[in-house]
Amino acid sequence: MQLASVTLREIGLPLVEPFRTATGMVDTRRLILVELTDGDGTTAWSECVAEAVPSYTAETVDGAWTALADLIIPLVLGKSFTHPTDVHSALWSWVPDQPMARAAVEMGMWGMAATRREESLARFLGRISERGAAPRKTVATGIALGMQSDADELLDRIRLALRDGYRRIKLKVSPSLDLEILRSACTQTGTRAGLSVDANGSFSLENKSDMAILEEIDALGLSMIEQPLPANAFEQHAELQNRLRTPICLDESIASDADAELMIRLRSGRIVNMKPGRVGGLTEAVGIHDRCRLAEIPLWCGGMLESGIGRAYNVALASLPNFTLPGDISPSSRYWERDVITEPWTMDQSGMVTVPVDRPGIGVEVDRDFVDSIVTRQAKFSAS
Ligand code: MG
Repeated sequence: MQLASVTLREIGLPLVEPFRTATGMVDTRRLILVELTDGDGTTAWSECVAEAVPSYTAETVDGAWTALADLIIPLVLGKSFTHPTDVHSALWSWVPDQPMARAAVEMGMWGMAATRREESLARFLGRISERGAAPRKTVATGIALGMQSDADELLDRIRLALRDGYRRIKLKVSPSLDLEILRSACTQTGTRAGLSVDANGSFSLENKSDMAILEEIDALGLSMIEQPLPANAFEQHAELQNRLRTPICLDESIASDADAELMIRLRSGRIVNMKPGRVGGLTEAVGIHDRCRLAEIPLWCGGMLESGIGRAYNVALASLPNFTLPGDISPSSRYWERDVITEPWTMDQSGMVTVPVDRPGIGVEVDRDFVDSIVTRQAKFSAS
């Protein structure tokens, strides 16, 4: 593969449900789409999952755009690569702090390589993964819900999610959560769809009141507590896991294969939430998958409010054998009034999304007319 051109497009993708941020209501998702074209005209699309403001990690849409335009694309344009893992190596040492921007190009090269091989990305990844594996043909889907201050509203949302077929309900929590509402949610969810909570690192091991709340949560027998402590707190997570029966799932902590190795060695948790953008792309994601498989640590694929393009990569990744827990792989209609692909992602009544194992590449067609209608900035880079 030799990259002849790369086109960046920032889009504002209208959300079904506006959400509140620190600076006000947001009704569109700002996303960077990447269109890669190689010397023989093969194209592949990917996306950068960075958010508008630095909240989940320090990366932002504007920072990623600059990193892509001024650093990452010049490193790959016109260069020959025999395998997408070579792209990972080429970018890793130069752009360590921009994993989501790096992943946008690296993942696109995986999509490109699979298209050129005329096989699905899911099958291609399965072959690369240690010991090789045939991809599963469907992946189970869960849903993440905000913790409402109104118990009835939350219970309604859970009831609707269960009716739609979701196989796991996840609630966002913080030390200020209302435990009574969480207990009601637990009863409402029952056992068919396991309930889990995600604290995004908001608890502290040193704070007695935080620990008391975590012990109360532990008593509920949830399927997991995700990222209770800050990202770099590997030893503290190990100490906490030692005290809790509920499995700890790490998300923000795992930014690389080295982090996964540290987590396993210290026993900082028992589950990993994988987001390929967070770890710099699919090469690292598959490496972490394989490492966790050997250590008997199951994974699930998280979501970053991706369009149907980013979702295609997540679905392919989640088809690997050690992704045994339901991922945040909602159908297009959960977030988007209209998705950027011609056939939106759907979920069946039992909460399963079909993996396009027999379609070459990422298995979706980009709706170019719609993308053109929501572009807010665009830049094309060509090999000289
Ligand atoms: Mg999380």
